[in-house]
Amino acid sequence: MQAWTGANTVSRGKDYQKDGLVHDLGITSSGALTATVRDTLNNDTLVDVEDGSLTSRCTCMFMIGCKHAVATIIEFLKIIKQGAIASVATDDDYRLSLLMKYLTLVSIIPIESQGNENLRSWCIAYGKI
Ligand SMILES: [Zn+2]
Repeated sequence: MQAWTGANTVSRGKDYQKDGLVHDLGITSSGALTATVRDTLNNDTLVDVEDGSLTSRCTCMFMIGCKHAVATIIEFLKIIKQGAIASVATDDDYRLSLLMKYLTLVSIIPIESQGNENLRSWCIAYGKI
């Protein structure tokens, strides 16, 4: 995780998760994670694996590889550990329309899932901090 985004960002993301600032964690039909992370503003974040690499987009000023993405990953790991299933992002999830500005999502349909296999494996293998 530190190699992905830097120790400082990881440490801040960890604090955000610990402080309970990650809300409404959901999964898109493609298995990506989306969550809203409270800061001075609400930051809508999307985390995915593309071509074998972890990627993230966010509505914050950093847009990629930010502490909000780190907090989202850590929250997801917590949910997996508890054996729970994250809630599902639906087509009309407002965050997805916000994030459309940053990426091309083909279509979002509700499914029950714990994320795509790549993303889950990546989070478990490399998400340790
Ligand atoms: Zn962010």
